[in-house]
Amino acid sequence: MDSIKKNIRCPQCRTLTEWQENPFRPFCSERCRLIDLGSWASGDYAIVGASVPQDDENTEI
Ligand SMILES: [Zn+2]
Repeated sequence: MDSIKKNIRCPQCRTLTEWQENPFRPFCSERCRLIDLGSWASGDYAIVGASVPQDDENTEI
């Protein structure tokens, strides 16, 4: 039976968050996940929170 909702604690900010339906697990949010990523990637990764506007001149449909 694994229909029980499991709560986990975000390793980043220690907020209790649900394991189920959480795409960012084991973190509570994308932000915490990115913070953790950044902590070992030493800032090489760009934060991909918002889509950056790009040159759409040659966009294919
Ligand atoms: Zn968190």
